[in-house]
Amino acid sequence: MKLFFHNKKPKDECAVFGIYNHKDAASLTVLGLHALQHRGQDSTGIVTSDAKNFFAHRGMGQVSEVFTESNVIKKLKGEISIGHNRYGTTGESALKNVQPLFSELNFGGVAIAHNGNLTNTQRLKKQLIDSGAIFQSTSDTEVVLHLLSTAKGDFLDRLNYSLQSINGAYSFLLMTKNSLIGVRDPYGIRPLVLGKLDNSYVLSSESCGLDIIGAKLIRDVEPGEILIIQNNKIKSIKPFKKTQLRPCLFEYIYFSRPDSIFEGKSVYDVRKKIGHQLANENLSDKELVDIVIPIPDSGNASALGFAERIKKKFEFGIIRNHYTGRTFIQDSNSIRHLAVKLKHNPNLASLKGKSIALIDDSIVRGTTSVKIVEMLRNSGVKKIHMRIASPPVKYPCYYGIDTPTKKELLASRYSIKEITDYIGVDSLKFISLDGIYKALGFKKGRDKNKPKFTDHYFSGDYPVELIDQKTGGKPSQLSLLIEAK
Ligand code: AMP
Repeated sequence: MKLFFHNKKPKDECAVFGIYNHKDAASLTVLGLHALQHRGQDSTGIVTSDAKNFFAHRGMGQVSEVFTESNVIKKLKGEISIGHNRYGTTGESALKNVQPLFSELNFGGVAIAHNGNLTNTQRLKKQLIDSGAIFQSTSDTEVVLHLLSTAKGDFLDRLNYSLQSINGAYSFLLMTKNSLIGVRDPYGIRPLVLGKLDNSYVLSSESCGLDIIGAKLIRDVEPGEILIIQNNKIKSIKPFKKTQLRPCLFEYIYFSRPDSIFEGKSVYDVRKKIGHQLANENLSDKELVDIVIPIPDSGNASALGFAERIKKKFEFGIIRNHYTGRTFIQDSNSIRHLAVKLKHNPNLASLKGKSIALIDDSIVRGTTSVKIVEMLRNSGVKKIHMRIASPPVKYPCYYGIDTPTKKELLASRYSIKEITDYIGVDSLKFISLDGIYKALGFKKGRDKNKPKFTDHYFSGDYPVELIDQKTGGKPSQLSLLIEAK
């Protein structure tokens, strides 16, 4: 059977990090962004404030590529700072879209950094342009600056108006010249935690951003909560009529770093428990396999849990090269096939003649699985039984994960049998959605009437209305400026 083949991989999302009241605000933000690098590698940036002026440095690439000189960091003066790592989901990868964005508004300067994706950007953008707004970027985040600018009242009134106007998934950090503000959307889809370092407050996408600077985790920001940090005090406001915590299940499955604590649970522990559940659903694997092998690093923790439960040895049968970064491979067939080994190489000693359980966290387009299985076949394994620590991804995400359209999602178009043949494994099983909820401590699995997480990529149940999707996704009379790269 011939299925389509894509060389593309799904993209991750973004990270935000902010600190209030620290003499080394910029340096600590660089460290925080380093710890959050896994959430986005397209571009990074920092804006600081010394209570009078704002200072910015932004660029394309990873934190270590953009913040190379201590001179640059020294120029980022002030004791308040916000930073951002980007993996673009709305708007292309270009310097104009690098965050934090900054604007001088009629009540003063504002910087903003966003993790998530708005679902009514195009509708709002059209309305704003019709009333005279001039957009500089193609990022959805700029819409918020225009809403802040055109609203009436003081900063909080304007922020409230802006938040009531937007739909979607968002964790925002905003900075005025003397305040740091954190906001989480009414469903708390994207993560945001509050921490403390001596007399400084810290806001970070994940708790691993706090660990790196020695800050203590205080709590997750609540759904629909605005935290205003000013004059060394912190104030919480909840302006939304209806809020319900439905964080993104994929944070546990793939995005968050395993050493992060998300909504009170260790991501590593949850992943191991997902491995237990995956094994509970496939206990006959005990008879089928000799060893359990993860696709590193994404399958590591669930493979450990899986091996523990079926009482088989866990082995690193595939070694990952961590230094691949941004490598440009010549686009010719003779060289391209070598690229498979750029990131992963089989560890022949532990594979030859073995029947293996091969564990990964997810299959999206199938790109990774196809490459890895082909590589393993050439290394003398006897049988490959692939077990996936998430249910089939059938529906696109519009809340800040750049998963592809339905057309490109393997599980949306093909049966498990067809995917098994396409990937070339001897058998393929996915954990059930109930199994994931059980791993999270819900004994009966997923409550259909009141699911505790957003799991739209598996279930098609989207908690926030997809307004742009309904109206065609593009502003009607507008054209796009495509940058020549
Ligand atoms: P694919 O190769 O398209 O099937 O994508 C699945 C692989 O990409 C798995 O190994 C995951 O670890 C990884 N993955 C899943 N979701 C994402 C995402 N949103 N961003 C980057 N990688 C992802």
